[in-house]
Amino acid sequence: MSNRQSKTDVILIGAGIMSATLGTLLKELVPDWKITVFEKLENAGEESSNEWNNAGTGHSALCELNYTVEKPDGSIDISKAININEQFQVSKQFWSYLVNGNQISNPQDFIMPLPHMSLVQGEKNVEFLKKRFKALSDNPLFQGMEYSDDPEKLKEWIPLIMEGRASNEPIAATKIDSGTDVNFGALTRILFDHLKSKNVDIKFKHKVDDIKRTSDGTWELKVRNASGNVERHTAKFIFIGGGGGSLHLLQKTGIPESKHIGGFPVSGLFLVCNNPEVTEQHHAKVYGKAKVGAPPMSVPHLDTRYIDNKKSLLFGPFAGFSPKFLKTGSNMDLIRSVKMNNILTLLAAGAKNIPLTKYLIQQLMLSKEQRIEELREFIPNAKSEDWDIVVAGQRVQVIKDTEDGGKGTLQFGTEVVSAADGSIAALLGASPGASTAVHVMLEVIKKCFPQHLKEWEPKIKEMIPSYGLKLVENPELFNELSISTSNALRLGENSPQTEQRESKVTANF
Ligand SMILES: Cc1cc2nc3c(=O)[nH]c(=O)nc-3n(C[C@H](O)[C@H](O)[C@H](O)COP(=O)(O)OP(=O)(O)OC[C@H]3O[C@@H](n4cnc5c(N)ncnc54)[C@H](O)[C@@H]3O)c2cc1C
Repeated sequence: MSNRQSKTDVILIGAGIMSATLGTLLKELVPDWKITVFEKLENAGEESSNEWNNAGTGHSALCELNYTVEKPDGSIDISKAININEQFQVSKQFWSYLVNGNQISNPQDFIMPLPHMSLVQGEKNVEFLKKRFKALSDNPLFQGMEYSDDPEKLKEWIPLIMEGRASNEPIAATKIDSGTDVNFGALTRILFDHLKSKNVDIKFKHKVDDIKRTSDGTWELKVRNASGNVERHTAKFIFIGGGGGSLHLLQKTGIPESKHIGGFPVSGLFLVCNNPEVTEQHHAKVYGKAKVGAPPMSVPHLDTRYIDNKKSLLFGPFAGFSPKFLKTGSNMDLIRSVKMNNILTLLAAGAKNIPLTKYLIQQLMLSKEQRIEELREFIPNAKSEDWDIVVAGQRVQVIKDTEDGGKGTLQFGTEVVSAADGSIAALLGASPGASTAVHVMLEVIKKCFPQHLKEWEPKIKEMIPSYGLKLVENPELFNELSISTSNALRLGENSPQTEQRESKVTANF
């Protein structure tokens, strides 16, 4: 038993991309605040943020078909796509600010330009894609998108996918060169190294076991250190950035906002190929359509990835069911999250989601050969020996009672839950995830530090020039920022898209 105690301004629980982002933002806004981080693992970015645990898509709705739904009248609703694109622009602006200020030395350590494509087969799907393309290509945020249903053109864009394709069904794709592959694991580690250089106290192998409010209104954490001893640490503000582990910690706070919320864990697997003969034939992230009954996070996609300076291909994710809330979690996680205040919510969700649970269990039982068969819908000539299975991170989807969905509604987005006085906040959910970390952490700042916002606004605008504005309503600013972020993050190199934008902006001035 240790008597170690400390008092600090801010405690961040968990060393994933969310805490990394919030810590970095706060250090820029209030450099003299003392920040401590507790992480139960040995290094930063080892859970969902790790490069092998997520797909590394810089989600900006350029290719993800589930962000554009067809309305009953046949038109396409692009509002969600616009929101997600705007949020990714916020991330790119903040990362550019860090690169320009030499706080990140080489952006190519974490972000690479990569065309984003959507691919569909069958008459109905081709019709949908054409409509989606028309709806998006008129929008400034999606400029540069191309559409083709010509197999010869598609052979140029995606040779690996088109080779050996026997089906006579109509096929079509859209392609946009301004997409990205993001190594969120590398970015998380870069940001934590940077925080360490700014005197943030980062405690690895320290697991937060409990959170309690003290009589003076601050929060006290019970932390188990590397030697298994218990420490007590207090702070005025706590961010629970424990990924899948956040729900348990939020429940321990006892705040009213933590009640009637549950978690539904979804596991994931990818197939990975490192054979250069195969990887060299593909250069894009290609998203298909989710199978009927499949949850949105299991949309199949074939991605070029840049990890450890090597190019590989990733296919998946194959969703599955596991009761763990973290990849390194316990089989008791789901049971431990059941409380008197959320049991009805969870039971309602269980009753509503029997088909989904069945689907996830079926997915879990697939053999490698069955998974390769699914891959062959993308790469007809795929050879089993070129592909290995990697276990991805866990996603814990939020279950809560909503007005629209009723009791026990499964949410597929992210959710910031905070105390009414802003002294504690937690991030739940996992989608669109790491790509929107800067937007989501700005939400935390808005909710928890409203008294400082006015004073902080000039600095926020310096870091994120579009702060407070909608880029979709400010196309000139969007063009200007596209060029400056592209240059800072070196995304424009060899990208014809940037040249096009530059000429358009020149004409505008
Ligand atoms: C299969 C899959 C594919 C994905 N693909 C994408 C994608 O293509 N693009 C995208 O933008 N996002 C994607 N995501 C989502 C993205 O990975 C997550 O949203 C993001 O990494 C979450 O970051 P985080 O910091 O909240 O959590 P994490 O990275 O999981 O970090 C949480 C940290 O908290 C620590 N922790 C937990 N409990 C405690 C405790 N009690 N005490 C101390 N430490 C604790 C954990 O050890 C961990 O290090 C994907 C996720 C999955 C699972």
